[in-house]
Amino acid sequence: MTNSNYDIVIGLEIHAELNTKTKVFCGCQNKFGQEPNSNCCPVCVGMPGALPVLNKEALKLAIKAGLACDCKINDYAVFERKNYFYPDLSKAYQISQLVKPICIGGFIELESGKKIRLNRIHLEEDAGKLTHQLNDTHIDYNRGGVPLIECVTEPDISSADEALEFLQKLRNRFIFADIAHCKMEQGGMRCDVNLSIKPKGSTVFGTRTEMKNLNSFKSVAHAIEYEAKRQIEEIEKGNKIIQETRKWDDDSGISSSMRSKEDSQDYRYFPDPDLLTIEVEPSVVESIRSNMPLLQEQRIQIYSEEYNLPTSDINILVNSKLVSDYFDNAVKLLNEPKEIANWIITELLKQDVSEKMPISEQKFTQIINLSLTKKITRSNAKILLENIIQTNADVMETAKQLEMLGDISKEDIESIVINLISENEKAVADYEKTPDKVVQFFIGNVMKQTKGRANAAMARDIIIAKLQNK
Ligand SMILES: [Zn+2]
Repeated sequence: MTNSNYDIVIGLEIHAELNTKTKVFCGCQNKFGQEPNSNCCPVCVGMPGALPVLNKEALKLAIKAGLACDCKINDYAVFERKNYFYPDLSKAYQISQLVKPICIGGFIELESGKKIRLNRIHLEEDAGKLTHQLNDTHIDYNRGGVPLIECVTEPDISSADEALEFLQKLRNRFIFADIAHCKMEQGGMRCDVNLSIKPKGSTVFGTRTEMKNLNSFKSVAHAIEYEAKRQIEEIEKGNKIIQETRKWDDDSGISSSMRSKEDSQDYRYFPDPDLLTIEVEPSVVESIRSNMPLLQEQRIQIYSEEYNLPTSDINILVNSKLVSDYFDNAVKLLNEPKEIANWIITELLKQDVSEKMPISEQKFTQIINLSLTKKITRSNAKILLENIIQTNADVMETAKQLEMLGDISKEDIESIVINLISENEKAVADYEKTPDKVVQFFIGNVMKQTKGRANAAMARDIIIAKLQNK
């Protein structure tokens, strides 16, 4: 793809479904995977006389998305009808925002320091879904009316790698701020790519094409590489690029012309007479801003600068919002970030944590604390953790039942150790040569004499102190 005679100019349009309970203009559920056409009403399929009412939660999430991307939040916004016919759109118009979107501007900075500017984020409704089978096409209107935000970038992206990094960062912001789940396999996040090429260094943009609805990051990268190469070949052959919408086919790895590209005037946008102008109070924006969860980048900074965690651990923790939230909650309960990170990574992530964590933060930190305060040994703490993950029983009760809590006093352990030392002269003599082995020998004997009820960590400290004073 790299042809050094040309610059590649890419702009992205990203649609993300918002995490609301209900749809954007009616009371139907916003839920994936329902029986087809079981989750619709006269409003979302556009029956005559049915009136839309804006879901305030969707508006708040759209504002939140703007704040997460450093956009300016407009003090008012207008819903417009975007008119077109397609079978997945039963109203023959989509309620969207053109002239006065809820958020404008904003940017996301790439690792290289390059800023990818956003033009806008607006709020709109999703359309239904068509499924093409051998001889039929099925329509499911459940998705119609699901709240969507559309983020439009400026044409600041110049390679597939930059596009992927931008998408990854945008997706992480939406997930960490609880704006959208962005599950691409469920259509929760979709991406259109606008691409043109121009002679290297030229300030005049070439004619662009648009590739629609790319459903994975991999297809975005492939589509960009394919389309840039195709356009360069056309130009080199002396042909013109036609402004058009192209369809990317993941299986064959090629794109094909779908229709000539339409401009916004083709859609005859006009203000929706059924919906009032949205007025955004500054106090509402401020309250959303002050309740924003920490974004991934902010968490990375805290884990690194305040907790001094190694980068490899940080990357594991922030790879999932669920794990990162769990870690943050656990640290609030027990201020031992390093220890907690270790336990999560080595013990909890062995389990399936795709939907939920296997144990509550309370019980988890209680067990870690028992080990840190040497009330139980580290190896017993691990056994206890496995046990509680299975049973969800009370931590202290279980530790008692498993006879893990050392109920032998320090004085008793000391007198046992003194006896053992006087009875095992050979072991004592070996202490300088093989200290670990000798300490282990004495711990084993203390445990044997107390039937495992001594605190092994305490016994170890006493044994070492006595041996060193010999
Ligand atoms: Zn509905």
